[in-house]
Amino acid sequence: MSTIERFNEHVMSTYGRYPLVLEKGQGRSAVSEDGREYIDFGSGIGTNSLGYCDEDWADAVCKQARAVQHTSNYYYTKVQADFAAKLSEVTGYDKMFFGNSGAEANECAIKIARKYSFDKYGRDAKRYNIITLVNSFHGRTLATLSATGQDTFHNYFFPFLEGFIYAEANNIDDLRSKIDNTVCAVMIEFVQGEGGVNPLDKSFVDGVFEICAEKDILVIADEVQTGAGRTGTFLTSEQYGVKPNITTLAKGVAGGVPVGICLADEKCSGVLTKGTHGSTFGGNPLACAGGLAVVNKVSGKDFLGEIKEKGEYFRKKLGEMSEVEGVDGLGLMLGIRLKTKDASEVCGKCFENGLLVLTAKNKLRLLPPLNITYDEIDRGLEILRRVME
Ligand SMILES: *Cc1c(COP(=O)(O)O)cnc(C)c1O
Repeated sequence: MSTIERFNEHVMSTYGRYPLVLEKGQGRSAVSEDGREYIDFGSGIGTNSLGYCDEDWADAVCKQARAVQHTSNYYYTKVQADFAAKLSEVTGYDKMFFGNSGAEANECAIKIARKYSFDKYGRDAKRYNIITLVNSFHGRTLATLSATGQDTFHNYFFPFLEGFIYAEANNIDDLRSKIDNTVCAVMIEFVQGEGGVNPLDKSFVDGVFEICAEKDILVIADEVQTGAGRTGTFLTSEQYGVKPNITTLAKGVAGGVPVGICLADEKCSGVLTKGTHGSTFGGNPLACAGGLAVVNKVSGKDFLGEIKEKGEYFRKKLGEMSEVEGVDGLGLMLGIRLKTKDASEVCGKCFENGLLVLTAKNKLRLLPPLNITYDEIDRGLEILRRVME
C-alpha cells in the first residue's frame, strides 16, 4: 500500500491534500518521496520561516532534544527564559504566555481581555464582548471560530461561544456604531491572511486605537500570520506606529516547531494569575530552542530590510506578468489578484510543475521562507509565469 493510501485509511480527511508525500527539505525546496524537488513559496503556511533544516535552527532543536525535551510548567528552563527575554527585547512587551498554536494564543488573549474587564468593572457590568472584523480568521477552536468573522465557519458546531460582534474592516463608522459599555476588546489582523491578504488602512487602525484608548477597551492584534518578520518588521504593528495591548504570535516564530505566544503590555500582563490559565506543552523546550534560533536571525535589522526588498522584488516581477491584475500585502506576505484565471487551478498547476503556492479566497497567496534567495525567487516565478500563460 502506498503512503497516501495508508494515510487516508487512518487519518481523518479534514483537508484537501495534494498527492504529495514530502520526505525531506533542503533550503527553500521540499523533496518528495519519489525524489521530485518543489520550490516552496508557502513555507508550510508561513511556518518554516528559515526554510527547511536551517543549520543553526536544526542544531538548536537537536541540542535541546538531547538535553531536556520537556519539563511541564511546574519547573523552570533556561531556554524558555532566554526565548522570552529575547522576544521581550525585540517586541517591547515585557510579559508573555506560551501555548502551542495560533488558536491557543488567541484563546489566551480572549481570556485576558474578559478577565481584565471582570477585575476592573465587576461581573455585573457584563463587559465581555469582543469586536472582531468581518473576513477575519482567528483559529479553529470553538472560541476562536466564534471570533472568526466569516459566516462559513459558523456551521455544525452549535452552540458557538457568545460575546463576539463583527464590524467591517476599514469602516470606522461601522466599528464605532458597535461600541458600547459591554465591549472589552477589539481584535484585528493588520493584514487579514486567510481572509484574502487584505491590509488594514492606517487611518482605520488609528481610529480603532483612538476609540479604544478613550473607552478603556483593549486592542488585540492577531499577528499569528503577520508577525515574526513576515512583513518586513518584527511585528507588523511597528509599520502602523501603534502598540496593541495584546499581540499574538505563532506560525513562523519558531521556524516549524509548534508554538503560540500571547504578548501582553503593562496594562494586561498581571491579569492572568496563578491557576487561571495553563498548557501542558506550552513553552516546551524544543519549541523555545527553535524559536530562539529564529528570532535571533529574523530580528536583525539587515535581515528585516532584506525581507522588504525581496517583497518589492516579488511585486515588480509579478507586476510584469500579463495575467496579474495586482499584488496586495506587505513584505513577504503577498496576495496576487488574477485577471482571468482561477487561483486554486493555478495553485494546482504550479504543484504539477514543481512549485508550492497557497491561495486565500480568490487570490494566490505567497508566504515564502524569509531567507529565500533571489535565484530561488526567479526560478519559482518563472514556473508561475509559465503556468499562467
Ligand atoms: C493560522 C492563523 C490562526 C490559527 O493558528 P493555528 O496555529 O492553526 O491555531 C489564527 N490567526 C491567524 C491570523 C492565522 O493566520
